[in-house]
Amino acid sequence: MHIVHISSEYSSLCKVGGLADVVFSLSKSQAALGHKVTVIIPLYRPLLDSVTYHPLIHFEVQENTSIYNATAFKILQNNVEVILLDLPHPKQYFSGRPIYGDEHEYAKFMYFTKACLSFLHIEHPSGFDVLHAHDWMTSLVFPLLQGEFHTYDEKIKKTVLTIHNLLYQGRISKQILEHLGGIPSSVLNHPFVSDPWDPQLVNLLKSGIEYADCVTVVSPSYAKEILSPPASFGLEESLGRNKDKIRGILNGIDLDEWNFEKDPLIPFHISYKDPTSKIEEIKQRCKESLAKTFSLHIPPSTPLFCVVTRLTEQKGLDLILKSLDYVVDQGGAFILLGSMIDEGWKGAFQQIKEKYIYHPKVFISYEFNEPLSHLTFASSDFIIIPSQFEPCGLTQMIACRYGTIPIVRKTGGLQDTVHDINDESIPKHQRNGFTFFPYDWAELQKNIQRALDYYHDGSRDLLLKNALDSDFSWNESTKEYIQLYQA
Ligand code: ADP
Repeated sequence: MHIVHISSEYSSLCKVGGLADVVFSLSKSQAALGHKVTVIIPLYRPLLDSVTYHPLIHFEVQENTSIYNATAFKILQNNVEVILLDLPHPKQYFSGRPIYGDEHEYAKFMYFTKACLSFLHIEHPSGFDVLHAHDWMTSLVFPLLQGEFHTYDEKIKKTVLTIHNLLYQGRISKQILEHLGGIPSSVLNHPFVSDPWDPQLVNLLKSGIEYADCVTVVSPSYAKEILSPPASFGLEESLGRNKDKIRGILNGIDLDEWNFEKDPLIPFHISYKDPTSKIEEIKQRCKESLAKTFSLHIPPSTPLFCVVTRLTEQKGLDLILKSLDYVVDQGGAFILLGSMIDEGWKGAFQQIKEKYIYHPKVFISYEFNEPLSHLTFASSDFIIIPSQFEPCGLTQMIACRYGTIPIVRKTGGLQDTVHDINDESIPKHQRNGFTFFPYDWAELQKNIQRALDYYHDGSRDLLLKNALDSDFSWNESTKEYIQLYQA
């Protein structure tokens, strides 16, 4: 099969969150099964400096009455053909701003999505098997395949949309799309694309839910949750009408990248076959190395808790702040690695950073720092993930791979991947963490205390072993995607 993914993020080249990990590792895993896999991403200008690319073809993209030149570059990674579209534009859409949040955020991804189809149409005129779009950033393909590219649509056997987070829907003004061109007014004004709150706006994710052949979300529990409010975020009608084509397929993680045996970003390595006592010893050495790097003083037998996340409302920010204070009060250590702080929370996170700036057992960083994330996973004893909702979540799976025990709120993919040590409905060997359901500080506090008691109790074997043994590979989920493509 020839599978084409189109995405705004791709690990190793441009990452903001889990979307990058998933597109990278899913495509790699599909290629490993022998499929021809292409991933198309924008060539964000700073990338030009970091890698050597080979131009594949020059092509044109039409925006309104203007036609702009574009170039497709190609690299091969893990048998995946990665196509980077260099899209010079008078508004310098891809010239080094942050990937999201700049003034042209909508216009640039609409332009990119149209460029993907313009490129594919020229490079693969007789079509291919699967066009797989990810999130609102590339959902415009579906209206475009109803419009300017409708004859090309017949040459694509299956179209798929994966929703990684229903919160972000791409609610955009019709003017942007009218200016771009390629979508007739019959489609632009169709109820399938109109936003449920404001009919003046187009809702890109909704257009994908309506027009894609199949829709997937990133865990089975999230597939159930999104059918009704509040998780449906206003799209319940559209999701309900299309529920037969919606599937929840659990994300995996790339076991080569997140590998405590050979991760080049950490100083000490384990063998997954090591006894737990040896693994604890290696984790302790990683902890000491981290403490040294940041001039901390974390005495032996001090439990280290961490949070590694985008600091957006969804992630349970009030509970994260409270847990930091609580862990420190109880004598524990804490690493908070958080990026993209929501506007309304910047003050509170600044305050807590100032409060602990000289604390010997606390390190807080508000950057996106890939190497530090690896060291944090390897060094910590526990990770706290108290999300309000979580489509899948990757950090609980990554943490387990490094023997860091997750403490999570049972929602979405967290519910599907973390099982409480005392949950008798789950086989003992699959219990890999601490879980709670009510979104409530008292509940989280209770579970942090359980984790502290467990740590000081000294018999950490069971959870450590179960966490390390959790199967978060892509094997089963990749097969599910292939079956979906072939159905
Ligand atoms: P989301 O996609 O909602 O951001 P996920 O848990 O699905 O959350 O994926 C988050 C990914 O981003 C993980 O690979 C995690 O390690 C990484 N990550 C999150 N915040 C940071 C940060 N501040 N620095 C480095 N990596 C981060």
